[in-house]
Amino acid sequence: METIKCLIIGSGPAGYTAAIYAARADLKPVIYEGMQPGGQLTTTTEVDNFPGYPEGIDGPKLMEDLKNQAVRFGTDSRWGMVNHIDTTKRPFKVTIDDGTELLAETVIISTGATAKYLGLESEEKFKGGGVSACATCDGFFYKGKDVAVVGGGDTAAEEATYLANIVRKVYLIHRRDELRASKAMVHRVMNTPNIEMLWDTEVKEIVGTESGFMKALNGAIVVNRKTGVERKLDIEGFFVAIGHSPNTEIFKGKLDMDEVGYLITKPDSTATNVPGIFAAGDVQDKHYRQAITAAGTGCMAAIESERFLGENR
Ligand code: NDP
Repeated sequence: METIKCLIIGSGPAGYTAAIYAARADLKPVIYEGMQPGGQLTTTTEVDNFPGYPEGIDGPKLMEDLKNQAVRFGTDSRWGMVNHIDTTKRPFKVTIDDGTELLAETVIISTGATAKYLGLESEEKFKGGGVSACATCDGFFYKGKDVAVVGGGDTAAEEATYLANIVRKVYLIHRRDELRASKAMVHRVMNTPNIEMLWDTEVKEIVGTESGFMKALNGAIVVNRKTGVERKLDIEGFFVAIGHSPNTEIFKGKLDMDEVGYLITKPDSTATNVPGIFAAGDVQDKHYRQAITAAGTGCMAAIESERFLGENR
């Protein structure tokens, strides 16, 4: 059976940065790209906040560049999903979805997280054409315009206050009459004059125009759950902030995770509770969720893998 020194699971900025560092440290990393090669950035258009690109860069192009950089140093990038891992003994036995079994001396988990959406057909239609799950990524496109954020947690509150600095007006749509967000965030939302709270409100439909591949969102139909009254919001951007799901299904019961499923790493480290298994990027980060922070923890994980292998020959 093939034995790999450093197996990386997941191919977003965390995974490829880990691969660049691991390859340069001669760990001969193998990366399994997973269900969405390149990760969440491949679903965005322009990325303007990744350092080093003064003119911005397309999300898919950024991921291609990161991959090419990793491959240039000898990373073996493979199609496939890791289905199963035995974390009880090292080297860890791993099964790929095509049935291949292999052994890994260290593992870096960078499987990311998936933004949750409302599940409306019209929401799906306007993804990338007005519907977004990341204000930091896409808020800039709505300078001086009106937008809506849906959700009632810290993410929604944070996205709404972030957008309020850029756009003309933010409607914050929440299905209940009380925000779940922390007191400090609620205070910020309530004291931001260009945020209008829509309590007890559900989104019925996203509306807009379509011409060929071009889509332009121009409104959302919302309904008050208590009164049944419908209203059209004239907005150009619709931000969904109803939580993320970390992609950790296969690690359940094997690695420590919080109540939502984010992997728990040791302070100032990417080490999980199993020596030799590290976690980087959004799979262990519910606070920042940025490409650059994911890349930073990917770098940490590779350095920690190298040290671990040095100390555990
Ligand atoms: P949360 O799970 O905390 O909140 C999700 C929100 O979306 C809830 O208000 C929920 O409503 C609403 N929601 C869920 N599903 C739907 C749906 N189908 N339709 C309409 N509304 C829906 O997720 P967050 O991403 O906000 O936060 C996740 C974790 O990360 C939390 O622990 C949070 O504290 C933390 N976090 C911390 C930050 C910080 O400290 N700066 C920043 C961001 C996140 P309801 O309330 O009715 O359930």
